[in-house]
Amino acid sequence: MPVSSDPPPDLLDLPEEELRRLGYWVVDRTIEHLRTLPDRPAITTSSYDELVGRLGGPIPRSAHSLDEGLALLADVALEAQQHGDHPRYFARVPGPSSPVAVLGEWLAVGMQAIASSWAGGSGTATLELVALDWLRDALGLAPTAEGIVLTGGSIANTTALIAARAEHGEGVLYLSDQTHSSIARGARAIGWPPDLIRVLPTDSDLRLRPDTVAAAVRDDIAARLRPSVLVATAGNTNSGACDDLLALADLCREASIWLHVDGAYGGPTALVPGHELRGLSVADSFVLDPHKWLFQPYDAACLWVSRPGALERTFSMHPEYLTDIQGGPVDLHNRGLELSRHSRAAKLWLTLRTYGFDALGQAIGRGIELASYAEGLIGDSPQLEVVTPAQRGILTFAVPGLDDAQHAEVAALVTADGHAALTSTVIHGRRVLRLCIINPRTTHEDLRSTLELVLDTAAQVNDLPD
Ligand SMILES: *Cc1c(COP(=O)(O)O)cnc(C)c1O
Repeated sequence: MPVSSDPPPDLLDLPEEELRRLGYWVVDRTIEHLRTLPDRPAITTSSYDELVGRLGGPIPRSAHSLDEGLALLADVALEAQQHGDHPRYFARVPGPSSPVAVLGEWLAVGMQAIASSWAGGSGTATLELVALDWLRDALGLAPTAEGIVLTGGSIANTTALIAARAEHGEGVLYLSDQTHSSIARGARAIGWPPDLIRVLPTDSDLRLRPDTVAAAVRDDIAARLRPSVLVATAGNTNSGACDDLLALADLCREASIWLHVDGAYGGPTALVPGHELRGLSVADSFVLDPHKWLFQPYDAACLWVSRPGALERTFSMHPEYLTDIQGGPVDLHNRGLELSRHSRAAKLWLTLRTYGFDALGQAIGRGIELASYAEGLIGDSPQLEVVTPAQRGILTFAVPGLDDAQHAEVAALVTADGHAALTSTVIHGRRVLRLCIINPRTTHEDLRSTLELVLDTAAQVNDLPD
């Protein structure tokens, strides 16, 4: 047999017609998902046995049907999850993604987008710089702030702590009892000494009081310790309450403390006219999660640091094999701990540019309005009690007469029903119900029917013998 000079067959090839046919199938299946979502459960949790029975099995040594694999992905694996984009998903923090962002993400994935070195991804790097600058200016952050788009608030806040420590030195880290738990975990993971971490109590409004911080700072100075970083929260996850950023910023300036503001959840409200977050311009670092309230598919979290060059000074590396691709305006792998990086800015840039900041501000404002509407319904109901008012899309409420365990049970039963998903939380030591309402596609009727279901379920739980 003559030796062939032809290239060997591409073992991983998918014929172009097949890619096209199934690509269209993926698009159609996604559209069907979005269209039928309001009529399907807000969350579905299956058992491992059930799921692994359909998705697992022996190692697939030989090929399997792609049609079948895609159907299993769509109908089994991706069905069994919380649908953060469901109009009655009010649990934890929803993720009301937007179709424009999905298109940006698809294209970036299809073109194997990378945002690492300038030479290796100058286009994606520019998207990231542009999106971050647009957001920085629209939010009112310091004009010097430089940033990066990371995976989530947990990593972005931890990255901020690493930079703050590198730039400002180790010392006492101040958190509040409402600071997101991922921040204490991040501090622990980066080796922040536990005896240099203070968790300060918030006031009756779940806000960190400047005089509480001032007293803690005085005590630490008297003990010859050095106050270093304060984490303030712009919209805490429990209640939506926002710390008094301006007063905390004054205090931080006087005491030479690095002010980090965690706006992972609530930051986008600063894009709503009339809801500007005063004090952001003097934050030393700031985090906002576009996969929460800026209509992005998972994952995307923005971090900005106001001091120019701080991220690069903290995270630059210069290995031999990267020397010939260094030297553009930015190598994004030098602004955080990731080297190979997905371009999370492709979808974000497309979203910001396509909808525009006016429409995005209105869509965020709609969540604020919906939560106020729900607060009104609860306030009008003799069987319900508002615990914390609607703040940045979140409100908590109680069913007088039910104890802590019964509140948790109501949340679980309502969620198991599938019509809506909500969770319970603890406010001032009491277990209550919580709604996080940030999906602009949620209707007033969605809120009315959910509260009716809560009332029916509460009546059932109340009647159940202990
Ligand atoms: C969700 C949240 C975080 C963590 O963000 P992830 O994207 O889930 O990692 C941090 N801080 C606040 C205030 C949050 O709401």
